[in-house]
Amino acid sequence: MKTLYKNFRLYDGTKDMTLKEGLFLLVEDGRIKTISSNISEAADREVDLHNNFLLPGLINMHVHIPANGFPKKKETDQKKLAKIVNSSRFTQKVAQKVLCNGNVKTQLLSGCTTIRAVGGVGHIDSMIRNDIEKGKIVGPRLLVCDYAVTVPNGHMEGTVSVGARTPEEFVSYIQDNVKNGVDWIKIMVTGGVLDAKVKGEPGEMKMTPEQIRLCCDTAHKLGKKVCAHVESPQGVEIALENGVDCIEHGAYMTDKAISLFKEKKAYEICTLSPAIPLARFDTSVSHAQEIVVYNSEVLLEGMIDGVKNCLKNHITVGLGTDTGCPFVTQYDMWRELEYFHKLCNVSRKEALYTATLVNASILGLDKETGSIEEGKAADFIVCEKDPFEGFAALRKLEMVVARGVEYAHPQIKKNAECEAALDNFMATL
Ligand SMILES: [Zn+2]
Repeated sequence: MKTLYKNFRLYDGTKDMTLKEGLFLLVEDGRIKTISSNISEAADREVDLHNNFLLPGLINMHVHIPANGFPKKKETDQKKLAKIVNSSRFTQKVAQKVLCNGNVKTQLLSGCTTIRAVGGVGHIDSMIRNDIEKGKIVGPRLLVCDYAVTVPNGHMEGTVSVGARTPEEFVSYIQDNVKNGVDWIKIMVTGGVLDAKVKGEPGEMKMTPEQIRLCCDTAHKLGKKVCAHVESPQGVEIALENGVDCIEHGAYMTDKAISLFKEKKAYEICTLSPAIPLARFDTSVSHAQEIVVYNSEVLLEGMIDGVKNCLKNHITVGLGTDTGCPFVTQYDMWRELEYFHKLCNVSRKEALYTATLVNASILGLDKETGSIEEGKAADFIVCEKDPFEGFAALRKLEMVVARGVEYAHPQIKKNAECEAALDNFMATL
């Protein structure tokens, strides 16, 4: 099956991309066969894109699949729910259907043709990935960690992470995840804003250097990279010193942290979306406690400063949303790009490049996706307005194409309360 896409304006996702017009894009068997101003080859069908903008599918580096991020009227007991879900493969399968399958579909229809899930319940994430690959359900290219590993009372312990008590338990949890086919190992090195007990300390150390080292050595021996939840300057240093490949969230970066990033060729994943609502929304909207507001502001300012410092030092910075946190929905990757542009002083071109080809390179997928180039998977999105004049152009897409499969005029059910609160904040930037 050959499809010829014509009449579009292209941003191709490469570092120095400029707007290109007058091209034709030929897709065959899910891949970009030709992109050229002159295609003589006959196609089975032609698609007129009405002079809309075509760009690579986005890559979201930090997703938690089970939650939708909508503000809740009543707190549910997440630990209790996770325990029930985890009790058998059957209950995991039920939870996958009821809670998760819709969320990965939403990610895809909102323009993320690849996502990395960095902490889920049991082995549900790899079960979803397998179902997507078999064509049983609709979803993006999915890379998974399954459950994260931490210590008792570590970040999200009992929901999307498990607490290991002995060296043997750390090793066996990692082996268990690898046996289930995970792509990365996720560990929770520090606490987070929602479990901090002291003002000014959003990322209290939870794992010891020895525990971090053991996890990284075990994962590396099994051929897996390690990404780590880290929310303090000290945590970043200790994580990098002991083998972590990818820092999630981050903090203010010390000179030592910057040299460690360079030495280890490690990555920083910027996630501004979860900190903003907690730090900057009126508490009548966010329902955040004073200590959470305070610590979220510390985290947000530290992360912005740290990301700028990394960029200045040519350290690879990727982008993710931390979907599942309050007010971080499964369809708002465009907001993270806009925040990155506005708060970290990068151009919209650099933001798009980051969310596409840079993220692909961190995942080792830059030969497969992340840009519109011949031979790569046909992963692209189409929008009516110019995204370089505002990423809100990506709120409503004309089309999503993922590995050649086309979704025209994708519809997403959005939460009105969430949209209003996020839009109010966006208007202040
Ligand atoms: Zn997270």
